[in-house]
Amino acid sequence: MKVLKFGGTSVANAQNIRLVKNIVSKSKADKTIVVVSALGGVTDLLIKTASLASNQDTNYKIVLKEIEERHLTTIKELIPIANQSKILSKVKSELNTLETLLEGAYLIGEITPKLSDKIVSYGELLSSYIISEFFVVEQLNSTYKDSRELLKTNSAFGKATVNFTITNEYCAAYFSTVKEDIVVIAGFIASSMNSEATTLGRGGSDYTAAIVASATDAEILEIWTDVSGMFTANPKIVKQAMAIPHISYEEAMELSHFGAKVLYPPTIQPVLSKGISIVIKNTFDDENEGTLITKNKNEKGRTVRGISHVENMALLSLEGSGMVGIPGISKHFFEVLSQAGISVVLITQASSEHSICIGIAETDADKAVQVINEAFEYEISLGKIKPTVAEKNLAIIALVGDNMKSHQGLSGKMFSTLGKNNVNIRAIAQGASERNISAVIVKDDVKKALNTLHEVFFEDNTKQLNLFVMGVGNVGNKFLNQIQQQKKYLIENLKLNIRVVGISNSKTMVFDEDGIPLKNWENALTDGEKANKESFFETIQKLNLRNSIFVDNTASDEVSKTYASYLKNSISVVTCNKIACSSDYENYRNLKDLARKYNAPFLFETNVGAGLPIIDTLKNLIASGDKILKIQAVLSGSLNFVFNNFNETTTFHDIVKQAQQEGYTEPDPKIDLSGIDVMRKILILARESGHKIDINEIENESFLPEESLKTNTNEAFFDSLVKYEPHFQKIYKDATEKDCKLKYVAKFENGKASVGLQQIPIGHDFYNLEGSDNIVLFYTKRYPNQPMIIKGAGAGAEVTASGIFADIIRIGNF
Ligand code: ADP
Ligand code: ASP
Ligand code: MG
Repeated sequence: MKVLKFGGTSVANAQNIRLVKNIVSKSKADKTIVVVSALGGVTDLLIKTASLASNQDTNYKIVLKEIEERHLTTIKELIPIANQSKILSKVKSELNTLETLLEGAYLIGEITPKLSDKIVSYGELLSSYIISEFFVVEQLNSTYKDSRELLKTNSAFGKATVNFTITNEYCAAYFSTVKEDIVVIAGFIASSMNSEATTLGRGGSDYTAAIVASATDAEILEIWTDVSGMFTANPKIVKQAMAIPHISYEEAMELSHFGAKVLYPPTIQPVLSKGISIVIKNTFDDENEGTLITKNKNEKGRTVRGISHVENMALLSLEGSGMVGIPGISKHFFEVLSQAGISVVLITQASSEHSICIGIAETDADKAVQVINEAFEYEISLGKIKPTVAEKNLAIIALVGDNMKSHQGLSGKMFSTLGKNNVNIRAIAQGASERNISAVIVKDDVKKALNTLHEVFFEDNTKQLNLFVMGVGNVGNKFLNQIQQQKKYLIENLKLNIRVVGISNSKTMVFDEDGIPLKNWENALTDGEKANKESFFETIQKLNLRNSIFVDNTASDEVSKTYASYLKNSISVVTCNKIACSSDYENYRNLKDLARKYNAPFLFETNVGAGLPIIDTLKNLIASGDKILKIQAVLSGSLNFVFNNFNETTTFHDIVKQAQQEGYTEPDPKIDLSGIDVMRKILILARESGHKIDINEIENESFLPEESLKTNTNEAFFDSLVKYEPHFQKIYKDATEKDCKLKYVAKFENGKASVGLQQIPIGHDFYNLEGSDNIVLFYTKRYPNQPMIIKGAGAGAEVTASGIFADIIRIGNF
């Protein structure tokens, strides 16, 4: 004997029912009991039409029509015309009765639980009848049995309790005598002792199948559904979820209890006591092994077996000084809830006895508040207990696994992962069985929480980073290309899955939650919506993805002002824009503090020396206890380029123009030439060395003529360079006459910083600096005489982009 249960999607239409028939005909058992759900979605439609009718809304007729259509179309597509008439007339007659029942509800303007169950039972009644007739037409040796004659329950309509003594007896008697090989019965529905229709609770067809399997001592219970087994998390929410090949009854029960809808929680109980195995299989991929559920504990394999969640939860707590030490308060609390028919999903109690906190279904919340406040009215009036309120829009997420109790650190890992992603935890509970650890979180965070936890516990630590890139000029463009090239390498070697989810330039912006295909980002961006910094931020916030990183590749003051809002939402910020870190000290400090407070890195390695690891090295020196005594540096790749190429055969103007065209200068070259850019860099290094310093404290003797400094446009600036060519030639000549080279040098010592053009003699560390190279000398307590030197290309889009990339990888390893 085998029991096969097919869920709503598996029998949703004629095409699917044909698949069901193929699966049933392959069943190699002496007898096969086929339990079916209503055609997918029909139960919801029945509930909807009943509710409309009882609210005296004539739209119930439209929904009823839809129900009719679904069944009649299925019959017409499934059954050859010659055999249709008997089946159509029987189904139409049942639908007429259903219509009469709905009319009754409409006229009275009310619906009782009893009538509701009667109406809802039509879903399974019709589906089982149609499928059974189809099997006969297809010449399977099959018959039909009304499950209301087999399953007997009490009269708790909506979710009736099964009378196992009678049910087992009826089932055993019927199935031992039935002659056909296959028996089709309806799932979900049963009848009371007075023969009124009852139901077993939403999703209850699984339960019907388990009850029948147990009563007939079946060799196996197969649950056929629309996914290939029980997954490590709901596959509709977590794309990377995997089917669990083998799981214990207890684990399966725990997962389903905490929301893995693939199995109705009460299903396990009847088969558990008989030791009958369950297999969960996919009707649409019947070769797939699916999941085997048996009594064996999971000895090997992962400790955490699955992550599930229940939505639409509410939290309610009873608290107050009056609770301490008074015996029986919790007893009374739970009695009141139980009398009101409210089931408690999760409980936590502080050891101080100051409060008890429970998780319940959101639909029960208002009623719970009312009964609790009534029951404790006296204590509340004395101020010993606070009036209770319910917090809604919550969800429970739970890690489940038999062996979790023997492993330390799981809950630490769970909560730190959630914390890093700014998922606020409202309550925590660990089951006494230690088979689950659950947390109550805000509903909007569910998707993020499930995906991050799944990544940490199941994906061999492949970490997904979600990037939001603002600015796709020289640097941004190169950056996106580098990501595209390295994507595969990073997944394979660093276990980092970097996805670009949002891109914006000053005109348009585009988002794709699954990652923007980088081959084609230009087109996607052009076709995007109108750009707006605020809505860029809001969209990122709404998407609420784990490990979100905002990347600023602009040189915009406005953009730099948005960092705080990102950090406050635990969104990391990576920027090559120097404005924020060189703005007033308070702002710089505030951003660093926010980064620490919200656990969101704020990285700006490219602010100094493009891709060279200058700031990171500085941080490591300080973190390991070293102290910076002096910094001497050539930090302007642009000025280096200019003075390395400028001589008596060229003009200053042409060289600066060339530097601009080759991407070595800021968009506004005056920022480089005036020394402001170098001031910002030494300021940032001084600050990162631990000094409170502002830009106006830095000495800067400019080599530019007054007039050039005062220009307002790039054009006027370049014109002034032409005009003052002799001035620049003189600077050059003065240096060469002394065998010196010109370098723009930044210095920081004893809390003071200065920048300026200097004549560097042969033999000096700075003398041989080529092209756009930068050099930094760190004199520290550990390197007092021979400084630590970092040298290399310090400007250019390619190296800057690689520096940003390095910051992203740092966050990935954070
Ligand atoms: P049926 O109609 O076949 O009974 P259900 O919709 O009741 O199917 O259950 C199957 C659904 O359960 C899947 O489509 C999936 O969305 C959901 N589900 C939730 N959690 C899990 C999980 N851990 N593993 C598999 N499916 C899950
Ligand atoms: N048709 C019922 C429901 O949708 C029972 C089931 O499918 O298991 O809840
Ligand atoms: Mg189901």
